[in-house]
Amino acid sequence: MNLPPQIRVLERGWLSSNNVLVHDSAGCTLIDSGYHAHAAQTLLLLQHALGGKPLARLINTHCHSDHMGGNAAVQRAYGCRTSIPVGEAPAISAWDEATLMLSYTGQSAERFSYDDTLAAGGRLQLGGQEWEALAAPGHDMHALMFYSSAARILISGDALWENGFGLIFPELFGQPGGYAATRATLEAISRLDITTVIPGHGAPFGEIGRALASAFERLDAYERDPAKLARHALKVMLSFSLMIMGSIAEADLPGFLAGVPIYAEINRRFLRLPEAQLREYLVKDLERAHALTRRDGWLFARG
Ligand SMILES: [Zn+2]
Repeated sequence: MNLPPQIRVLERGWLSSNNVLVHDSAGCTLIDSGYHAHAAQTLLLLQHALGGKPLARLINTHCHSDHMGGNAAVQRAYGCRTSIPVGEAPAISAWDEATLMLSYTGQSAERFSYDDTLAAGGRLQLGGQEWEALAAPGHDMHALMFYSSAARILISGDALWENGFGLIFPELFGQPGGYAATRATLEAISRLDITTVIPGHGAPFGEIGRALASAFERLDAYERDPAKLARHALKVMLSFSLMIMGSIAEADLPGFLAGVPIYAEINRRFLRLPEAQLREYLVKDLERAHALTRRDGWLFARG
């Protein structure tokens, strides 16, 4: 994918989001810092990509653990100014673990503070070009994406990937409006003149029409059958947790799932499966998707 030389995408594997580094004579900017357990790797990649230049600013598309988990480590290393979406500010200021969905999902992040906030419609100078912050509600109602009409590039966060988008959390938690917001965000993207999308996960891509068509199709399917979103969410969550832990004894799985509230809550809202049946469904489906290996009473993450 042809990107201007001042933009460097550090493409990461799950759980970390991609890190987008924009070089600028006025100071380099990093967009999203990855998951905290990968912070050492993030710092190494960043140091290499900076090539000795200072990092002036860190920006988040949204404040989920896989996008802001490395903020504290990046701040310690570079003392950079940190800007977050304005809607995320109360939860970050208070380090509200429930709103940030940390213990709730079995994920973690290192607490950080920010210097200022960004709002939709705000303009930024990055890499010698003007970028606009655009509202990207849906996956996270406060998320932003960044668009340069001159470069025709969209930094989409989890609002649009080449094959999908981030889980629609509001709907999973019984807050209506997530589907409509996701649709509005996808429609807003479809009205932009874009040649390249730099997503929060996966490689930058150019076939925007195809990505949007498949995103709308997925959204339609979730709206028709919300249990589909629920099943997908539980599998994503369990495969994330397995990646964090590496492995878990099957005998410990009931206790693990009982200790992470999101599993019981989504099951209660959408699926109403007996616990053992839910466990068996999740493990079998992840095994089929090659997301885990089951051996000798253990489950191993496959990444
Ligand atoms: Zn996210």
